[in-house]
Amino acid sequence: MSHSIREACGVCGGWAEDQPMAYLACFALYALQHRGQESAGIAVGTGDGGKMWLKKGPGLVSEVFPDTEELKQLPGPLALGHVRYAYSGEGRGPENSQPLLLRYRHGELAIAHNGRLVNGARLREELAEQGAIFQTETDSELLGHLIARQNNPCLEEAVAAAVSRLEGAFAFILCDGKKIIGLRDRHGFRPLSLARLGEKGYFLASETCAFDTIGAQFIRDVAPGEAVVIDDGGIRSYQVLPPAQPSLCLFEFIYFARPDSNLQGKNVHLMRRELGRRLAREHPVDADMVTGVPDSSIAAASGYAEEAGLPYEMALVKNRYIGRTFLRPTQRMREEGVDLKLNAVEKIVQDKRVIIVDDSIVRGTTSVKLVRLMRRAGAREVHLRISSPPVIDACLYGIDMPASQELVARRYKIADIARELGADSIGYLSLEETVAAVGLPGEGLCRACFTGLYTIR
Ligand code: AMP
Repeated sequence: MSHSIREACGVCGGWAEDQPMAYLACFALYALQHRGQESAGIAVGTGDGGKMWLKKGPGLVSEVFPDTEELKQLPGPLALGHVRYAYSGEGRGPENSQPLLLRYRHGELAIAHNGRLVNGARLREELAEQGAIFQTETDSELLGHLIARQNNPCLEEAVAAAVSRLEGAFAFILCDGKKIIGLRDRHGFRPLSLARLGEKGYFLASETCAFDTIGAQFIRDVAPGEAVVIDDGGIRSYQVLPPAQPSLCLFEFIYFARPDSNLQGKNVHLMRRELGRRLAREHPVDADMVTGVPDSSIAAASGYAEEAGLPYEMALVKNRYIGRTFLRPTQRMREEGVDLKLNAVEKIVQDKRVIIVDDSIVRGTTSVKLVRLMRRAGAREVHLRISSPPVIDACLYGIDMPASQELVARRYKIADIARELGADSIGYLSLEETVAAVGLPGEGLCRACFTGLYTIR
């Protein structure tokens, strides 16, 4: 049985007695929407273990929760939210929307997660052999089964025992109607941060931008291998997994996270601008202007322009009403998506030598289109500058990446990529410079998609 669901989703959840928690979870999900547009969901707990409220479904947060007033009225000090970003065919079904709400011997359990287990298929097989029935393809359901099997009414203890079976990248949030538990894998591949909310409350979210949206005050990141438990008794912390070499995803910095978020204390926007500056130093080229690909590479492009002393132009316009192109499952649909999504401004680029800064090249689909758009709009030269190294291997830890053979940096020698993409030149930022721009020790970052060296598999 192969289960290759890759999910780089967004999770949030918290406890506060003096706050409209369902409503706040919804706004936090709006702030995390870039982390997944496939489905959204919120579970609400009464605080005394009573029946939980759950609403989830396919689509954007605004589609699943068109009536936020309804959420404001919902009683309950606990809420847990999820936005989902599934990869291809497998795992995209509506049954995989989260949070999952499971019923077991000790009551109800809502679970949501971000990441991917590397031993998920093995564990699933093992549990299925013992008679477990699976209704979804999610890692959340796997954890639910493992927790139920502990047969322990104390959720903290059951969770601690169950997660010791999990290998891989994960940030889970669980709620049993009395408390919220947030936990990260022992390498800390996927981000999860903690904030203060209201008088006595706390809130967890994949990214700190969610805290700003709901008026919560950032406290700290959840540590690798740590479980944070929040309820009316306050907050408790347990090291449920022995900490290992930290390995926060470098791609979160480069592309995935929102620019107003801070990852491990580093602001994403400032860090991307630094990537751009270093890119300009490493790969200079004679040109008339620099443009970024909205939205994710604007920061890097502005850094490039600043360092190169060239004007930054808004030469590419994005249609804001179209989701991330990766979400379309087939190559043809992806290509159509890019067409719908971006346009070049002819009056700006005509007869000009243009540097396009993008944050990454994966399949190359976007770059081919960008170069074509620029040439069609009359650009004399088109130079691609990429604010990250060549992506040469698939992500095993939850970022949506195609199989290695589809990666353009795998299919062609770097020297041939410019030609393949139709550009006059190309320059990728080196791994050393990328890591230096982040400003964290390289060994503390997961770089597997750029090196092919995996921490665990
Ligand atoms: P591609 O078109 O396949 O080369 O993908 C690269 C483009 O998609 C870049 O413009 C990135 O900003 C964006 N991108 C990179 N990685 C991902 C990802 N994991 N999911 C969605 N979009 C991505």
